[in-house]
Parts: sequence; C-alpha cells; structure tokens
Amino acid sequence: MSTSSPRLNLRTPEVMREVQARVEQHYHSSLIEQVRSQGGRLLVGQTTCYLAKQFGFCYGVERAINLAYAARSVFPQERLFLVGEIIHNPEVNAHISALGIKNLLEEEGGAAINSLKPEDVVILPAFGTEVSILEKIKARGCRLVDTTCGDVMSVWKRVKQNTMEGTTSIIHGRASHEETKATASRAFAGGKGHYLIVLNLEEVDFLVRYLLGEESSEHFLKKFDGAYSPGFNPELHLRRLGLANQTTMLRSETEEIQQRLSHALEQRDGCRDNFRFFDTICGATQERQEALLELLEKPLDFLLVVGGYNSSNTTHLAEIGEKKFPTYFIRNQQCLESLTSLRYFELKRHQEVLLEKFWMIKKLQEPLAIGITAGASCPNYLLQEVILRLLELRGEEFHHAAFFTS
Ligand code: SF4
Repeated sequence: MSTSSPRLNLRTPEVMREVQARVEQHYHSSLIEQVRSQGGRLLVGQTTCYLAKQFGFCYGVERAINLAYAARSVFPQERLFLVGEIIHNPEVNAHISALGIKNLLEEEGGAAINSLKPEDVVILPAFGTEVSILEKIKARGCRLVDTTCGDVMSVWKRVKQNTMEGTTSIIHGRASHEETKATASRAFAGGKGHYLIVLNLEEVDFLVRYLLGEESSEHFLKKFDGAYSPGFNPELHLRRLGLANQTTMLRSETEEIQQRLSHALEQRDGCRDNFRFFDTICGATQERQEALLELLEKPLDFLLVVGGYNSSNTTHLAEIGEKKFPTYFIRNQQCLESLTSLRYFELKRHQEVLLEKFWMIKKLQEPLAIGITAGASCPNYLLQEVILRLLELRGEEFHHAAFFTS
C-alpha cells in the first residue's frame, strides 16, 4: 500500500471554464445581481427589501465548490469522496451529492476510509480536517483535492507557532465544529502541544476565575470536558496562553475574550508577557458582520437571515440581528409557509421552531421594510427565492424581467 497521497491541481483554464458555467447555473441569481447593482434596495408596491452590502458566498466557499465540481469534471468515472460536508449549506451539499461525491465520514467512525483505494479521489472541505483523519486518508494512497481555505490555514500557522513556543492555544470556537477540531488537532501536534476550546464569555469567565485561583482543577476539568487536549492538566498547561479563534466567530466577542484573558494574566502574573493574541477572524466574516450592522441602521420591520442552521458565521449574523430587530433565521423560502406560519431556527433552543401567528408585523396594505442577509455558505439563488416568496405572500405583483427594464 502506498503511504503518500498526491495533491492535485485541477484549475486548468478549460476545466475552470466548464466549472464556472455549471456553478453559475446552480447558484447564481440575476435578480440579486440587479438589486445589488441598484444599491441593494428593491421596492415593489408597499414592500421594500434591503440587502446587506456583503452577504452570501465568500472566496473560500466559492473556491471549495469550484474545486469539487472540477474534481468531478476531471475524474468523471472515478470514485469521489468528501471528508464530511464541503460547506454548511444543505442545498449546496445536495448538489455536491448529486455529482456522485460521497461523504466519507457518513459511516460510523469513518469506516469508509479503510476501504479507500489509491485510484480514489478525496476532497478536503473548506474548513479543513483533523490531522488524524488526514493521515489515515494519506495512508490509503488515494489522490487528494484540498479545498481548505487559506484563512483557516492561517489559524493553523498561529496555533502551530504556539505549540513550538510551549504556549497553550485557547481556541475561541465550537468544540464540535469541523474547523475548530481541525485547528485543535494542529495545536495538539501529536502530543507536543495543548489546547482549550472556549465557546463564549461565560466559559471565558470560568477560565478567568480558575486562572485567579477561584475554581478547583476538578471543577475545571468537568466544566471543559471534551474541549481540551488529551493529557491536559490545568495546573501545568495554563502558564502561557495564545488566543486564536475559529474564523467565523463573532468579532466583538473575540475582542472581549482577548481583553478578559489578558487582564486576568496581568492580575495573576503582574504583566501580560504570558499572553499572545492573534486575530484570526477571516475577512469575509468581518465584512458580513459589518455590513449587517450597517443594514440594521435602516428602519426595518424585521430581518431575515438565510443559511444552513449548522453554519457558524450565519448563526452569528442572526445573533447580531436579534439585538436590534425581530430576526428570523431561515434555511430557505419553504420556511415562509404562509402569512401565519413561519419556520425558523431559534438560537436559544438551538432548533427549528414553528411560529403560528401573523409574523409579518405590518398589515398587507401597510408599507413593510425587510432586511435580508445570508451567511458565507448561502448561494444567491436562495435569496432570490426568499424575496419572491415574500412578495408573493404580500400579494405584490412582480415580474422580474419587466421590472428591471421598465
Ligand atoms: S468563511 Fe472565511 S475562513 Fe470560512 S471559507 Fe469563507 S473566507 Fe474562508
């Protein structure tokens, strides 16, 4: 059996021309492009839809999708596998699956990895994968298409640097998220380094209390069970800390965590020398969060956030929106069942719920302003479908082609 996996470069001009055409066909929306080119505002009858200035596919997601399509184009007959989901959007994942690309981790414990053959092609997703999984795949000798986003790899560089310097990486992220697991595996580096994953300010405050001697090690290990490296000993491994984050976290929260941790170490050590901080929120996430804050300055009646419910950056957009307006985090237009029935993802309960009341807030004959944004993994055609559904529910006459030529 071969023990190395060749990484493939599929981006030849011919392949990419074909790929672009198919990707556009699946995900593009001429309506959204037209609304965008006219300042992001669509007024139809009594209904105004405002789009955020930045939303939808980021460069990393576009690249990952392009490469998956390119892999199928270059290898029409070969078995193609994907490590998990290419991105967190069910509609996009359905398209990928329709290309005959199978999820390698679907079977319990990733058993399918053991049946890989050297002629198989394995695609690594935009958030990367854990070192242990990658090593198992490489050991099968199959060909690799690596779509890991460059911004994710920048985080890996930071945590590897921490490990080399004997610094424990504090990773602000969700322990179950693929990207955070991949980053944590780089910090662990086969037992050479340590990490602790913190999800939110409540967990950071617990960590701060531990650093200041106000919590026991036993309580600490119980509290963070599943979120630290194997062999982690809080009495030994919290001397020097380096903060990094999952690329899609809430920027304001990451900044607050930085403040609280550096302040705690100053209290403990009398200086901040044992604390390092790297801002590893990616540019696309920042832009979408900033564009939403700008959108929220408008006099909206409510906000719709469109995207996959397991998408981290989309969840944070919904969190930002909720602070100012009624906000509904929906997967697609089918969630807008009727004027009195709406399905949306409730962040507190972490599940889709059914709202059964007149949720449009304003009567149909009154002017209504709706803000709309979408996470980095949401294709534009889904936003188009949502807008068309909203107009339909409001009883607005809208003929797309005629509207923009009139
Ligand atoms: S959200 Fe950021 S890190 Fe994730 S794929 Fe997009 S650009 Fe890359």
